[in-house]
Amino acid sequence: MEAVDYSTEAWAGIRNGYAAGRLGHAYVIVGSPRGNGRTFAESILKLLFCMEEEKPCHRCAGCRLVDSHKHADILWVEPQSKSRQILADEVRALIQRMAQTAFAGGWKAGVVLSADCMNPSSENTLLKTLEEPPSKSLLLLVTDSPQSLLPTILSRCQKIVLPAAGKPSEEAGWREALMGILHELPPSSGLDAARLAGRFKGLFDTVKAVLAEEVETEMGRMAGEMDEEKLKKVVEARTNARLKEVQSDVFRVMADWHRDVLLLASRVEPGHLLFASDSAVLIGQAARHTQASALQAVEIVEGMARRQERNIPDQHIFDEAFRQLVRNG
Ligand SMILES: [Zn+2]
Repeated sequence: MEAVDYSTEAWAGIRNGYAAGRLGHAYVIVGSPRGNGRTFAESILKLLFCMEEEKPCHRCAGCRLVDSHKHADILWVEPQSKSRQILADEVRALIQRMAQTAFAGGWKAGVVLSADCMNPSSENTLLKTLEEPPSKSLLLLVTDSPQSLLPTILSRCQKIVLPAAGKPSEEAGWREALMGILHELPPSSGLDAARLAGRFKGLFDTVKAVLAEEVETEMGRMAGEMDEEKLKKVVEARTNARLKEVQSDVFRVMADWHRDVLLLASRVEPGHLLFASDSAVLIGQAARHTQASALQAVEIVEGMARRQERNIPDQHIFDEAFRQLVRNG
């Protein structure tokens, strides 16, 4: 999960509001309910429930209970996995809890993730509490499509628009994970190659999980009536199609990296590098190559992309490629 960028205007507004005792009763947080939106909501809650002087500390029992969604004074609501809807009963339970005295004697909070999945009856239930919010209560609605909420809900909430987090597949952080692997190349032994191939596979497993959730959300909204077996197949097919796009991006970055190694092994000035900021690492890697072996490495990586198009199993492609990339010493 990504960290909240505490330098953003949105965060400054919340922190100052809290410090001045002017925190609103209800906020619509426009961001990803699984990514930056949820993290932002958690950070606001930590302001309320952190036990340290410098809030939020992210370490105390209060902060940890927020992170694990187990704090007794916070009720989390999100769409049911099957219907992708938030039902009025769940909203009612949330409202009742917020009207009760807090266990810890302080704040009570309710969070609705993917708030746009509320049906009209849920939204109307929620409206009542927005009209008369209980004291020391905070309601957070997290959504990436605020236009789907009733205008009367929007008008009673303060809106926080988070900076765009990029594509969900990028939220999975593959670029960072990939750079971590590239920095450890070339593998120094067969064992090392197997370890790196495993990490490479793990990178795609993470991306795939994020993509599958994204596709499921989209499908749930569009096709509530489709039968489960059919839905599962469509989700699988769409997820794999998107995974292929990410994989081809990954292979392209990996090939570019090896072209930089080849340039250096061919004694070209480092000024021409694509990964100029990694030049020290690249120089170290090029020192372990000859021009011929660096050229071969580029070919191995380009071969990975071609083999994947022929539907050879991932694990097999990765294991073999990383083994071929081994350079001793
Ligand atoms: Zn804390």
